[in-house]
Amino acid sequence: MFRIRFHGRGGQGMKTASRILGTAFFIEGYEVQDAPRYGAERRGAPIFAYVRADKVAVNERGIISHPDLVVVSDDTLVGMPAAGVMQGIDQNTVLLINSHETADTWQQRLNTQAKIIILPAQEEIEDRAELPYIGSQCAAAAAALSHVISKQTFTQALTEELQHLGDEVVKQNLAVASTAFDAMAPHSGIVKESALPSATDYIKPEWIELPFEKAEISAPAIHSGATSVKVRTGLWRTMRPVINYEKCSGCWWICSTYCPDGAINVTDDKLPDIDYDHCKGCLVCVAQCPPHAIESIPEHIAKEKELAGAKS
Ligand code: SF4
Ligand code: SF4
Repeated sequence: MFRIRFHGRGGQGMKTASRILGTAFFIEGYEVQDAPRYGAERRGAPIFAYVRADKVAVNERGIISHPDLVVVSDDTLVGMPAAGVMQGIDQNTVLLINSHETADTWQQRLNTQAKIIILPAQEEIEDRAELPYIGSQCAAAAAALSHVISKQTFTQALTEELQHLGDEVVKQNLAVASTAFDAMAPHSGIVKESALPSATDYIKPEWIELPFEKAEISAPAIHSGATSVKVRTGLWRTMRPVINYEKCSGCWWICSTYCPDGAINVTDDKLPDIDYDHCKGCLVCVAQCPPHAIESIPEHIAKEKELAGAKS
């Protein structure tokens, strides 16, 4: 069975990528399962989708925990634990990253035994949630790496899945997908089907005995991960709101009320102060600020400015 996971940000088309790839496998005679996984979140948030394909009925369910191929459309997600890109990766996994950096750089950075392949990134754009055509590119690259989907079949699958968007959109997506498919030719067949898990290979977990604790110590889940304070949703941001205090008229009740995440605090001086650990970059505040005192800048540029400031 092929087990393939796509990771990206909401808006980049990873759900569509898994659908296109699933359809391509189906046309080639495979039984297919494909599903996206995301919460009630916004564009820019980490999401993933997965595809299982086999020549016999697919009875396995749930998230793919041991993938044969992991495709990452946005390399800023690789090091983000909440995105789960590295989950279940081992020496048999192929990791395909859309990046400006080389496979060697990633191999050293991640210190992984997985085989790393780079899908050359396009020009940098302002809002990464809008990387154009990246879903089609990722699906095409995954198809080529599997070596069981022909280019003709992939073209048919993409056309079927995107035809509701019009001929011009299909044409543009086919053009970039074709380039990505051809770029993967040297690695064609590197992704292998893995065997079905067997009960005879089951390795028991190493149990950790925890001491018994009173409920007031062990129960307050609000202090654990995956709660609103502990999860730094600011990592999802692709655009950063920045307040220009020279223009700000101090009507803090407006921006702090409109912020859906309560990420605008009010200082003792009655001025708004954005909590960047939890601001998801929805830019509602930018739209609502009456004197237009909040501007939005791409997150990667804001980070570069921070680094330059720290060095000087
Ligand atoms: S809404 Fe705009 S002007 Fe008013 S406090 Fe917020 S940032 Fe300042
Ligand atoms: S962009 Fe503005 S409104 Fe949106 S989460 Fe950040 S501070 Fe709140």
